[in-house]
Amino acid sequence: MKMKRVFLKLSGEALAGPKKTGFDEDTVKEVARQVKLSVDAGIQVGIVIGGGNFWRGRTSEAIDRTKADQIGMLATVMNCIYVSEIFRNAGMMTQILTPFECGSMTKLFSKDRANKYFEKGMVVFFAGGTGHPYFSTDTGIALRAIEMEADCILLAKAIDGVYDSDPKLNPEAKKYDTISIQEVIDRQLAVVDLTASIMCMEHKMPMAVFSLNEKDGIANAMQGRINGTIVTA
Ligand code: UDP
Repeated sequence: MKMKRVFLKLSGEALAGPKKTGFDEDTVKEVARQVKLSVDAGIQVGIVIGGGNFWRGRTSEAIDRTKADQIGMLATVMNCIYVSEIFRNAGMMTQILTPFECGSMTKLFSKDRANKYFEKGMVVFFAGGTGHPYFSTDTGIALRAIEMEADCILLAKAIDGVYDSDPKLNPEAKKYDTISIQEVIDRQLAVVDLTASIMCMEHKMPMAVFSLNEKDGIANAMQGRINGTIVTA
C-alpha cells in the first residue's frame, strides 16, 4: 500500500501506558518519534484519540447519557492537547480541530481548514469525536478519514492484528493477513464498532490493525508495511 494521507487511531488506554489512566509520557514520546519519521517522509498524518483513559459515556449510569458523552468528548480534547504538545516538542507542527467551539484551545473543524493544515505539513488532530452523543471515536475517525479522503485508517492496538477468536482465550486462534470488512461484521470481530465498520464498508475506506508494541509499528504502517491485518473495503 502506498500512503499519502493516513489517519491514526490511538485509544485512550494506549496513552495511559501501564498506568491505565492519565498520560504515560514515554509512550506518547515514542508515538511522536515514529509519527515524525513519517511526516519527514512527506506523509500527511491525521490523528484521532479515544477518551477511555479518563472517561467513557456508557460507563456512568449516575447521569444522563448525553451529558456523560459530552464529558467523554471533552476527554478526547484533553488527550489531543497533551499529545499535540508532545508532538511539537518532538519537532512537528500540529493543529487541533474540533466539531464544536473550544475557545482558543482548538479550531473549529472544516474540510477546507484541515486540507490547508495538511498542505502545510502539519499533523492534524481531530478531537471531540463526531461532536454528537451515542457515537464513538471509532465513528469519529471513520467519518473524518472518509471526509478527508485518507488512504487508510491505521489502528494501533494492544493486539497485533485481527484474529478469528480471542487469542487470550483460544490458543488455536488464527490471525488474518487480510480480511474484508463484510467478514469482520459477519463474524463480529469488533475491529471498530459496527457504526464505523458500516461507514468504512459503504465508503470503501480500508483499515490496518497492528500492535502498538511492535518496534516501529506506527512508522512501518504509515509507510505501507503492515505486519498485522489489512481490513479491505
Ligand atoms: N464520544 C461521543 N461521541 C463521539 C465520540 C466520543 O459521545 O463522537 C464520547 C463517548 O462517551 C465515549 C467517549 O467519548 O465513551 C470516549 O470516546 P472513545 O471512542 O474512546 O470511547 P469508547 O469507544 O472507549 O467508549
